Amino acid sequence: MIVILKPGVTLSEMGDLVRYIESQGLRIGRIVRGEERTVIGVIGEDRGVPIDRLRAFEGVEDVVRVLKPYKLVNRDLQPEDTVIRGDGFQFGGGSFTVIAGPCAVESAAQILETAHFLKEHGAHMLRGGAYKPRTSPYSFQGLAGEGLDLLARAREETGLAVITEVVSAEDVERVAEVADVLQVGARNMQNFRLLQSVGRSARPVFLKRGQSATIEEFLLAAEYVAAEGNPHVILCERGIRSFDTSLRNTLDIAAVPLIKKLSHLPIVVDPSHATGKRELVPPLAAAALAAGADGVMVEVHPDPESALSDGPQSLTFPQFRDMMAMLDRVRAGLRPQPAGV
Ligand code: PEP
Ligand code: MN
Repeated sequence: MIVILKPGVTLSEMGDLVRYIESQGLRIGRIVRGEERTVIGVIGEDRGVPIDRLRAFEGVEDVVRVLKPYKLVNRDLQPEDTVIRGDGFQFGGGSFTVIAGPCAVESAAQILETAHFLKEHGAHMLRGGAYKPRTSPYSFQGLAGEGLDLLARAREETGLAVITEVVSAEDVERVAEVADVLQVGARNMQNFRLLQSVGRSARPVFLKRGQSATIEEFLLAAEYVAAEGNPHVILCERGIRSFDTSLRNTLDIAAVPLIKKLSHLPIVVDPSHATGKRELVPPLAAAALAAGADGVMVEVHPDPESALSDGPQSLTFPQFRDMMAMLDRVRAGLRPQPAGV
């Protein structure tokens, strides 16, 4: 539920209220301080809690039950968009952030060449998996620690912030030493121990939608992270399984405006995993921008034919450059036109 305090009242003046909330087996999940009012997101099983008792506390303006099962990531709690800022990147607040890089870190030459190219051509963040969750145990699993070292080197040389995947709770601290943003992959969207572990990290979390996850399950996965105290979650729509097998997945573009309505969290689109085909990546990146996404994540490889994973969906360097120019044109077309035009 959401407890709205009267204008000018702060949580620290509300000791009795906090004690009462805790006596009901609930806890304070988030405090949103607005210009005038403080709003408290209370989490836990609240069905039996007498709402009128809470309303009666001096300093409380109103108490509202949140009907959806996700509370902290719900727009009802925080009407303004969450803006996540880091070294050289921003998600939300009107920016369109381009994350690019290979599926996996394969070698020093591969990641450094890619990072320098991307930096020169306007990418905001470098991606690359050091730990790869592969469908087959016999496929390339990533360079692990060596991959992390190479990502650190790429950041040092280019200044690009790094996003990389963490596949198990035990690895979170180690990956967080290098990664500016921790990626949780589609296959791990409901790995609840991992979600709780990244929820205790100071790093923002990039959470990819599970292959068959509903929007509600997706937002509840984000809620797991937020409930551990980490409100910095970036959602990523990366395609879902459907009856149609012509492409690797089906991009649910409607998820973008729908999630914007339901949640205050930023949402990014990954057209590479959504389609599995490099020539479809630029048009779907444009669709993401037009639909109101906060950014895209695309795979880029210096020589996709020789990539150890996801070569067919990786853009070549010239394709990335052309896509960036095309996105600029789309953005210009989306800008509100001056009156009379
Ligand atoms: C990835 O980003 O490389 C990846 C494995 O993606 P997903 O988890 O969406 O399949
Ligand atoms: Mn990939």
